[in-house]
Amino acid sequence: MFKLEKWVRPNILALKPYSSARAEFKGHEGIFLDANENPYHTSFSFHDKVRDGLNRYPDPYQIETKEKLAEVKNIPVENIFIGNGSDEAIDILIRIFCHPGKDKIILCPPTYGMYEVSAHINAVEIVNIPLNNEFQLDIDKISSHEVEKSDAKMIFLCSPNNPTGNQLIDIEQVLKTFKGIVVVDEAYIEFSTAPSMTEKLTAFPNIVVLQTFSKAWGLAGIRVGVAFASKEIIALMNKVKPPYNVSKLNQQAAVEALTRANEFQMQKEQIVAQGEWLKNKLSQLHSVKKIYPSDANFLLIEIINAERVYRQLVEAKVITCNRNSLVKNCLRVTVGTEEENKVFIEEFKKITS
Ligand SMILES: *Cc1c(COP(=O)(O)O)cnc(C)c1O
Repeated sequence: MFKLEKWVRPNILALKPYSSARAEFKGHEGIFLDANENPYHTSFSFHDKVRDGLNRYPDPYQIETKEKLAEVKNIPVENIFIGNGSDEAIDILIRIFCHPGKDKIILCPPTYGMYEVSAHINAVEIVNIPLNNEFQLDIDKISSHEVEKSDAKMIFLCSPNNPTGNQLIDIEQVLKTFKGIVVVDEAYIEFSTAPSMTEKLTAFPNIVVLQTFSKAWGLAGIRVGVAFASKEIIALMNKVKPPYNVSKLNQQAAVEALTRANEFQMQKEQIVAQGEWLKNKLSQLHSVKKIYPSDANFLLIEIINAERVYRQLVEAKVITCNRNSLVKNCLRVTVGTEEENKVFIEEFKKITS
């Protein structure tokens, strides 16, 4: 008899898959404050703009998109990789630098779940060096002899960090002491007042900076993520990626967005202002024990009985992200439109009063 389990790699059998916000809540109706998306619709439609027919394969190196991005970011094309979401870049990086069953990466939890899932898929071991009470890096531990001896190949830093929302202040310290690859995930950098670590690309040959169109740029639906690194690292990424990893439609949508950078700037400013409004309202409620400082388009809030409040909000068709298993009694709430935030506050008050 054929026994499937006998043939599957054991680490895949044991794998706990990434649970995305969209998988956790399957309904279509409601106010979605769970996945840190930009709440505004894009003003353009781009299907008519695809220049050549869809019968032809897309540009494997996405040159037009990269040239536009190079202009907006002031970073040369040769230092840019484009992936099918930054999640693809995370996986490719682990596959480039880590031997399955042998190598290790360092993670600093609580943080984004995909680093762990990608490591497990690739049978790469994880060394956890948790963030401290202020959700900052434990720099002593990261630069310790022990870590040096551990031979960890990579460290993943997320700044502003998901789900805590704060900026990590000691990234440069890590760049100076950690010998392997330093991946800095800047999915939320547009919302932050801190400069991007892309400024360090020329100073540190071991840095990879990840950004995405999924958050501030309002294009989670197109799956376009970006990595900035030395041209040598980018060349390795291009070697490993599937040949046509970004579709023509997706490339075109990214180009359209980049030509409308002002529009996104305005949306971003509205989101930041709405975030302040939300923080202010929440801070007046007794049921909110703590609002963690945020440099992103979401707030991590500590409340009483987060599990129950999360479920009751779902019943009221307001979907937040329950982070209780990562940070006790915490919900992560994405900043929505003015109307969405008002409904959230009203329902939250009803449930917790
Ligand atoms: C949302 C998010 C991403 C985005 O991933 P994409 O695959 O580009 O949509 C990456 N990193 C973090 C920390 C995120 O929160």
